[in-house]
Amino acid sequence: MERLVVIGAGMAAGRLLEHLGSADFDITLFNAEPRGTYNRLMLSPVLAGEKTYGEIITHDDAWYGARGITTRLGERVELIDRDARVVHGAKGPVAYDKLVIATGSDPFMIPLPGHDLAGVIAYRDLEDTKCMMSLKPGSRAVVIGGGLLGLEAAAGMAARGVQVTVVHLMGHLMERQLDPEAAGLLQAFLEAKGIEVLSEAHSEAILGDGQVEALRLKDGRELPCDLLVMAVGIRPSVAVAQAAELDVARGLVVDDHMRTSDPAIFGLGECVEHHGQLFGLVAPLYEQAAVLANVLRGGTATFAPKPLSTKLKVTGCDLFSAGDFAEGEGRQNLLLRDPSAQVYKRLILEQGRLIGAVLYGETTDSSWYFDLIESGEDVTALRDTLLFGPGYESTELSRCSLAA
Ligand SMILES: Cc1cc2nc3c(=O)[nH]c(=O)nc-3n(C[C@H](O)[C@H](O)[C@H](O)COP(=O)(O)OP(=O)(O)OC[C@H]3O[C@@H](n4cnc5c(N)ncnc54)[C@H](O)[C@@H]3O)c2cc1C
Repeated sequence: MERLVVIGAGMAAGRLLEHLGSADFDITLFNAEPRGTYNRLMLSPVLAGEKTYGEIITHDDAWYGARGITTRLGERVELIDRDARVVHGAKGPVAYDKLVIATGSDPFMIPLPGHDLAGVIAYRDLEDTKCMMSLKPGSRAVVIGGGLLGLEAAAGMAARGVQVTVVHLMGHLMERQLDPEAAGLLQAFLEAKGIEVLSEAHSEAILGDGQVEALRLKDGRELPCDLLVMAVGIRPSVAVAQAAELDVARGLVVDDHMRTSDPAIFGLGECVEHHGQLFGLVAPLYEQAAVLANVLRGGTATFAPKPLSTKLKVTGCDLFSAGDFAEGEGRQNLLLRDPSAQVYKRLILEQGRLIGAVLYGETTDSSWYFDLIESGEDVTALRDTLLFGPGYESTELSRCSLAA
């Protein structure tokens, strides 16, 4: 049987192993984290006290055991010897016929003075989550970054009674997913939960003597804190691929079959770069996993990324964003505003097609809009009622058929 080594037991690798089944390969799985695959997305509900870690484990020892997968958990792969086709973990080498690098991302830490103080963390794994969960009610936290991760961290800590300030460099929250109006509603929602939001705020230095005590902003303000969370972006984790002299740009470069510059080595997940594109959401990684499973078995499947959508996992906040919502020549905006109900919907049309959607407060039709964006079908005939969703469309249709 062919020997397959997988480096990284993140969400993408977990999905790959589900596709492969036990009879395909003699599999060894390495993971730097001291555990197998869990649903990383669900760390936020764990932080908010809505789920336990046990509930978000997707692949446990019994799962690997039942499929004959050898696990080397808590063991980082330091080196790949491509000539000998051997990977070297801290506890010894393993030979491969095929190798998958699925090492995910590293959180980016802004190299501010004081970034290495105790109590300065990222938000990426269970250890970070536990750190935030250990804060006592009434203690203070600063989150740098008002994107998806930063806001989920802030809301989770606030739910535990921590006083949280979000420091965001840009003019409005989640600027990559939201327009200013939807972001304004989101900010009001967070402030009502007791979270302070500072936009256009430039961090200058992290203060403390061994342990973080405050964040100083460029305008001189000091924000005292017991914990500082940096949630300012991720970088593909490519150290091991780089050391093996594989083709690495911003990420590990793969072709449409997820193959790297070495035909025996494949890339998967957030560590890869595909036609110049990097990935930070799980949906395309699951597509990659399906393609790679097919290719590893000798198939010819190809990976082609599709449009993406985002939801914020903060209880009580319905927010959805998909596709392209930038203003542009030839683009039309359809808008629905209902301030008293805290509802805002914006649909963006181009050449009769829906290309983007931002929904706040009312997201029940999000998958319908997402399907329309994905399919690229002509929605000209639906234009007048598009904002009211598919329920309205079917009512209209049934009226028409009754009339006929
Ligand atoms: C709190 C949080 C919330 C999120 N919410 C969403 C969401 O709502 N929607 C969404 O689509 N996405 C979300 N994401 C992003 C999503 O979790 C990632 O896209 C996904 O987990 C990436 O999967 P991956 O397998 O590529 O990498 P990872 O899950 O990061 O796994 C990579 C694994 O490789 C291991 N590793 C790295 N280097 C080595 C080495 N040299 N040797 C051995 N092992 C190594 C790491 O320890 C890690 O366990 C969220 C992420 C976080 C942190």
